[in-house]
Amino acid sequence: MTRISKIISWKFFFLISLLIMLCFIFLWSSKPCEDTLTYRIGKVDDRFDLSRQEFALAVKMAAAMWGKPLGRNIFREDFRGAIEINLVYDYRQEALDKLRKINFKIDNTKNSYDDLKARLEKLKAEHDQKSALLSNDFNSHNLRMSTFNKNVEYWNRNGRMMESVHKSLMQEKDELNSLQEKLKRGQDDLRRLTDTINDLVVVINEIATNINLDLVKYQNTGDSLGREFCEGFYESRNGKQTINIYQFDNNKRLIRVLAHELGHALKLNHSADPSAVMYRLIQSEAIELSPDDFSALQNRCNN
Ligand SMILES: [Zn+2]
Repeated sequence: MTRISKIISWKFFFLISLLIMLCFIFLWSSKPCEDTLTYRIGKVDDRFDLSRQEFALAVKMAAAMWGKPLGRNIFREDFRGAIEINLVYDYRQEALDKLRKINFKIDNTKNSYDDLKARLEKLKAEHDQKSALLSNDFNSHNLRMSTFNKNVEYWNRNGRMMESVHKSLMQEKDELNSLQEKLKRGQDDLRRLTDTINDLVVVINEIATNINLDLVKYQNTGDSLGREFCEGFYESRNGKQTINIYQFDNNKRLIRVLAHELGHALKLNHSADPSAVMYRLIQSEAIELSPDDFSALQNRCNN
């Protein structure tokens, strides 16, 4: 190796080392207070009463909550953003919507839970009763049908039937047809009842989960219960970050759920302070950080 090429290779080695060191320092000092995290709006299910623009605006407001105390944006929307934010219509929202459509009044309180459980028991009893009646009706219909078929077969084999027999057979046929219609209506009714029971079970389980989680608070205050953040979920897997929002009641609540999930994207954990956005339940619809959220953010910034 010549002297010149030795110098070049040393220079090259030095430059590479410097570059690696710089990268290391940059990654080491990468903190949310200095960087802007990017997000993008993914799927917005149109079964919610919310447009894509309205959802994007709610995300923007939730993101602004974290930037406000620092006087700068921590999050920025970008079409290639790192965090994908979706509004997903899942079976829980579907069950809730279906029940509300048939005038069920549902909220996240112990009263609502007790009321729904009582209605569930009533509907189950109604279902069992209707199901037993329907099964009886089916059996008697089948019996009449088979007698009718035997008679028709008999007269087909034995030539001309009397006018009176023909008339009574026609009458029986009409009655069997209308009985069939009635059975079909009964079946549809029973199916609707089964659907409502299934939806009720889903919704009651949701409320039950929340009641158990917040049982201590409930016993102490008798307040309306907060809802756990299963309304939304943040996940970071295989280098892909996702926030899924599963329920939408009103705009302020949506913003708060989004702010909570964005807090997780900032690597913040749950707070013990019930007034904090990062508390594990939604206790309020205030759209600003609590002092506890702010100090958690500052800690994250400084560590
Ligand atoms: Zn959480």
